[in-house]
Amino acid sequence: MGQQPLSSLGMARIPTPLEPLHRLSEYLQGPTIYVKREDLSGDIATGGNKIRKLDFLLAEALQLGAGAVVTTGGPQSNHARATAAAAARLGLAAVLVLGGEKPSKVEGNLLLDYLLVADIRFAGVSDQAGLNRAAEEVAGELRQKGLKPYVIPLGGSSPRGAGAFYRAYREVTAQMGGKGIESPWQVVPVGSGGTLAGLAAGWLNDGKPGKLIGFSVWETSGEITPRICHLAQAVADLYGLSIKVGAADLSVDDRYIGPGYGIPTPECRQAIETLARLEGILLDPVYTAKAMAGLLDYVRRGIIGPRDTVVFWLTGGATALLSSLF
Ligand SMILES: *Cc1c(COP(=O)(O)O)cnc(C)c1O
Repeated sequence: MGQQPLSSLGMARIPTPLEPLHRLSEYLQGPTIYVKREDLSGDIATGGNKIRKLDFLLAEALQLGAGAVVTTGGPQSNHARATAAAAARLGLAAVLVLGGEKPSKVEGNLLLDYLLVADIRFAGVSDQAGLNRAAEEVAGELRQKGLKPYVIPLGGSSPRGAGAFYRAYREVTAQMGGKGIESPWQVVPVGSGGTLAGLAAGWLNDGKPGKLIGFSVWETSGEITPRICHLAQAVADLYGLSIKVGAADLSVDDRYIGPGYGIPTPECRQAIETLARLEGILLDPVYTAKAMAGLLDYVRRGIIGPRDTVVFWLTGGATALLSSLF
């Protein structure tokens, strides 16, 4: 590990802006809130947090001489859409293996997927193991055709992909220094966990200034924390950091998931409306709105105090607003 230099393609438009949300802070009569605009990370097919990961993953794909990329996700996966777009840009074939059956309505990210890539397969199953199996079958098929496939795991959350957010942590730290922000709350949505894992590696390496909290939109804290712990350690090892990541170092709150992944809660709808109307900012119904619902509730309950400063990682995904998910 760490033998090859960790190169990236430079596809991500970074540093992404760190902007204050004055009107939201005023409305809450509370904390100073900034957004880290990961939604603006790319000039390809709407950006989002997957662009940084793909920047590193696809650099490796090219190094290995891959002719095709294969990845998995739900029918409204932002990661799948971003992968299709980045592959198009690089002239690589892309195969998306999506969960379940083809929906009757092609909308939101799925509509973009069809625009970006011809080869979309529905796996029938939606569980992670089943999707991985289906992706491996597709990879086998591509190998037989002589196209060397590069398989990207769910959400791009391999150590190399997640490591992009170790770099993003350093990026935001430099920006905060320039704005005099010290020891903020950093708030991030958690899906496959790579984003939080990468940030956590940076945060722990920095001696844990302020707080770093992830709001899960999918698995319980008990399920996902050990995986993030493992991944954060792998990122630290990849970058040669001498930290030891323990589960107790990580905070994942799973109380804002509601009935399930991708099912909007009333609080999440409220958060979308609040940010749209006060700031002209579009959250997405699957990830960022649930994390924002958690943040707003923390403020209401006084867990985050009026003198605190918050940096909210706005990870993208607003394309899903234009689907019946919302
Ligand atoms: C994938 C995604 C996340 C979650 O990132 P992970 O690294 O999978 O935890 C958050 N927000 C949006 C919009 C995403 O697409």
